Amino acid sequence: MTKWVYLFSEGSKEQKGLLGGKGANLAEMTKLGLPVPTGFTVTTEACLDYLSHQNQLTDEMKEQVTQAVETLSEKTGKRFGDLDQPLLVSVRSGSKFSMPGMMDTVLNLGLNDQTVAAIAKNSQDERFAYDCYRRLLQMFGDVVMGIDNQKFESRITALKKLHQLNYDNELTAEHWKTIVSEYKEIYRQAIQREFPQNPIEQLHLAIEAVFGSWNNARAKTYRRLHDISDDLGTAVNIQEMVFGNFGDSSGTGVVFSRNPSTGEPGLFGEYLINAQGEDVVAGVRTPKPIQVLAEELPEQFQQLQSILENLEKHYRDMQDVEFTIENGKLFILQTRNGKRTSKAALTILLDFFREGIITEEELIERIEAKDLEASLHPSFDETVISNRVPFLSGLAASPGAAVGAAYFTAEAATEAKARGEKVILVREETSPEDIEGIAVSEAVVTARGGMTSHAAVVARGMGICSVVGCEALTMEEDGGVVGKETIKEGTILSVDGTLGNVYFGEIPLEELTNTVALDELQSIWDQHAKFQVRANAETPKDIETAMALGATGIGLARTEHMFFERTRLLQFRRLILADTLDERLEVLKDLKDVQKQDFKSIYQAAGGKATTIRLLDPPLHEFLPKNNDECREVAKALNKSFNEVKRKSDNLAEVNPMLGFRGLRLGVAYPEIYRMQGEAIVEAASEVIKERGYEIQPEIMIPFTIDAQEFAKVRCSIETAIQDFLAVSNQKITYQIGTMIEIPRACLVADEIAKYADFFSFGTNDLTQMVLGLSRDDSPRIINQYGEAGIFEDDPFQVLDEHGVGAMMKIAIEKGRQTKPNLKIGICGEAAAHPKSLVFLNTLPINYISCSPFRIPQAKMTLAQYGV
Ligand code: PEP
Ligand code: MG
Repeated sequence: MTKWVYLFSEGSKEQKGLLGGKGANLAEMTKLGLPVPTGFTVTTEACLDYLSHQNQLTDEMKEQVTQAVETLSEKTGKRFGDLDQPLLVSVRSGSKFSMPGMMDTVLNLGLNDQTVAAIAKNSQDERFAYDCYRRLLQMFGDVVMGIDNQKFESRITALKKLHQLNYDNELTAEHWKTIVSEYKEIYRQAIQREFPQNPIEQLHLAIEAVFGSWNNARAKTYRRLHDISDDLGTAVNIQEMVFGNFGDSSGTGVVFSRNPSTGEPGLFGEYLINAQGEDVVAGVRTPKPIQVLAEELPEQFQQLQSILENLEKHYRDMQDVEFTIENGKLFILQTRNGKRTSKAALTILLDFFREGIITEEELIERIEAKDLEASLHPSFDETVISNRVPFLSGLAASPGAAVGAAYFTAEAATEAKARGEKVILVREETSPEDIEGIAVSEAVVTARGGMTSHAAVVARGMGICSVVGCEALTMEEDGGVVGKETIKEGTILSVDGTLGNVYFGEIPLEELTNTVALDELQSIWDQHAKFQVRANAETPKDIETAMALGATGIGLARTEHMFFERTRLLQFRRLILADTLDERLEVLKDLKDVQKQDFKSIYQAAGGKATTIRLLDPPLHEFLPKNNDECREVAKALNKSFNEVKRKSDNLAEVNPMLGFRGLRLGVAYPEIYRMQGEAIVEAASEVIKERGYEIQPEIMIPFTIDAQEFAKVRCSIETAIQDFLAVSNQKITYQIGTMIEIPRACLVADEIAKYADFFSFGTNDLTQMVLGLSRDDSPRIINQYGEAGIFEDDPFQVLDEHGVGAMMKIAIEKGRQTKPNLKIGICGEAAAHPKSLVFLNTLPINYISCSPFRIPQAKMTLAQYGV
């Protein structure tokens, strides 16, 4: 016989697949002796069986449920339908993965026309009893029977209006009795049957509804968006009711063991006195911060605090707990690993490590790439924001900054997104139906709801910036109104989810800065990584970013990038179109001063860390005048005729520039250009050494080498110039002149090249291009076709081609080190930092990789994860 039902005392946290996350944790907490109301779980297997048998609960399942209810009665002394001690239960769904708001809850199940009277008598509170009953009717009608909730809500609104009351808690017992009979009538009319008075019948229907809800549209959408399998099913948890709406020493709340937005230690959450579970998340009454509970019910607060501390240690993770206090007695209704922002995720893991809750290895392993990525979220330009007044403020529910056009429904948001717009979803509050609208939005703004409201939880989980509970915002049919201002459909808004502010118009977004304690992580990662991670960067700004993101140096500063700016470009054109050496030397004299300044700024920004500057590698073709106007401009600047410049340019044009006159070939043809750069590099280093005291050892890198003699010849000419400078200025500077290895021949003759080169750096962009014979610029279509045909698993320009390019690299490393056993070897092509490439690169005896600044943290983390 299959076991379809588990008492809480029979399960454990390891059984999430069978009992669902909620059920497994309720069982675990029961095992730990925490104050959990007794109950049982009907398994996910039962759900799958139900769904595959025409939505029928089998007799065997019903029998096991009856048995479990019997046990519940024995433990609680209460029975279904008992007129003295009636048993009331909650029914909640709970699948393996948390799906907030996707599935539904029924409270107070077991109440009927008779037992409501017993509850009134026992509690000596008739109002309470009928409020409970009407909640059951409403939830059962809505969730189990699918009656439009608005039909129920409108009755309460009408009654309050009739009696000129503002809040539900002002309604009396008589009012609730009226509501109860109206609700029963709504039920009768909608279902054509009476509301079931038999508790076990109520229970069967509720279990069926939860099972059925696994396949509702909202649940399916959520699963699709979160990559959750449709084959898991949901469990159902049936638990003795406890009441938070028993008066002023009762209450209910949701609390995190740490702040889910920032990760700061200390309880974070909210509660309502004299309220039942759903009131907190529904955002109807504004809850109080959990710290206020320390004053209102200090004993219970302390108990809660200590339970959360213990749970956190037990689960080794931040917990999100639902609790209820019934007449002064604390109950824990649920615990789960809390959803958190990416920033909070990193902060919490670091704190756990510092507090000894997790080991260094766990710290490294548990950081997720997406959190690291998102911790580098954009923010608004501070100077701009300090001069702007937000027109709307609310709770900072999910950090980040975003700009977009306002839309008021999920559908409108989705359509606008499909038109290519950036969208801000603005709503009274959100519900699970809005999930697709939220997913396509840059930010979510709501008028109501707290930090645990649907909008807040979902946006935070998805890493979407969000501001909730903007009390000044009133939603009307065609837009939002804030005082005299209106937000119309399409109004551009800037939303700051970190501060909780909303602004009219577009505020420029700032490049990402790192706010988390990345420094501490960096030093931990560095201890476990097999090699270093440098940056590919040449502007001072990019280098500073790279340094802030943990670069151990600069692996590739491309000097041709310094000539894209207009006046520089003209100078460069003068250089390549000059007819004589004298003419070239004249241009080079000016350029040397400019380049020296460039290199000084690089050394200053790098703060003394190792820096490799690569000599010019322009496919010359790219720098030639593109049309007659440009030829005229150059002619004027060079004091030459238009025809002369045009002829020269046509002469230098190439059919295949990537395999043409570039890199070291330029150095062979015009050694004075590389000589100028070599001098500028060493002179710049010498000045920065004097000014800043850095220990700079210039690393000069020559690109596109194919041959040892080719390299040796040019090296010699650069070195002579450097030596002359050092002799004249009477200085000693240690420098290195190395080469890129980016052409297959260079790999094959690496032993010879290594005789003259002080270091190697693989340029896997060109090497991939040449090993695969695939143009790095023109081949995306071919790569896509090969991907679709299953020939390529990945784009070889993104993920290093281990078997081809990788094999070639191995040859070069082996040969290079045959000549120089300690030869320094790096990799500076784009593919190096990809986590998949790192699996292979981690097996090579290299010294560093070099990549674009924002890829550094993840590359370092990945290396550390492979290292532990
Ligand atoms: C390379 O070829 O991999 C490289 C880093 O150089 P570039 O991309 O500038 O050709
Ligand atoms: Mg290259």
